[in-house]
Amino acid sequence: MKFICIGRNYLEHAKEMGKSITKDPIFFLKPDTSLIAKNQPFFMPDFSKNIHYEVELVYKIKKVGKSIDTAFSKDYYDKVGLGIDFTARDLQTKCKTNGNPWEIAKSFDQSALVSEHFFDINSIKDLNFSLLKNGETVQKGNANEMVFNIDQIISFVSKFITLKIGDLIFTGTPSGVGSVKIGDKLEGFINDTRVFSLNIK
Ligand code: MG
Repeated sequence: MKFICIGRNYLEHAKEMGKSITKDPIFFLKPDTSLIAKNQPFFMPDFSKNIHYEVELVYKIKKVGKSIDTAFSKDYYDKVGLGIDFTARDLQTKCKTNGNPWEIAKSFDQSALVSEHFFDINSIKDLNFSLLKNGETVQKGNANEMVFNIDQIISFVSKFITLKIGDLIFTGTPSGVGSVKIGDKLEGFINDTRVFSLNIK
């Protein structure tokens, strides 16, 4: 299983990062070792002074595919959940400045939280989602605000990388990203359903 993560897929988030929208999706990978184990907290790593949360809709691939036409993308997923793309923002800034890859900032152990519960895509009409930090809403979005929708993402990514069953696609974060510290609690919602709760230790 691999994580495929899309960058700059919401206009307001691109703006807050001082970036513009690109012609094609930007993506990067996280290895399966990024996954936070069930019921485990996030432990603050010692290599960063600025860990950020990025809440994102996550789609699960159900069929092997390569070079998928956008018109057929729907055949390759049927479930959507919510996750956090944890980012060592200080290291990412350094990588960008030096023109280096992002792995140390994006792909470290426990950099991916995925909700246990996934919704059947056909059971949900309007996909609103939000993130609460210590009980206050810090991020909210709707799937229809994405610059590149999941069908376009699947088509683009599969030109380069074969999609396999169980792969998870993180579709980018809306505005409001920010840092976490020890003692914080993060809760994710899809519409009115709480789909994860995570303690920072
Ligand atoms: Mg992200």
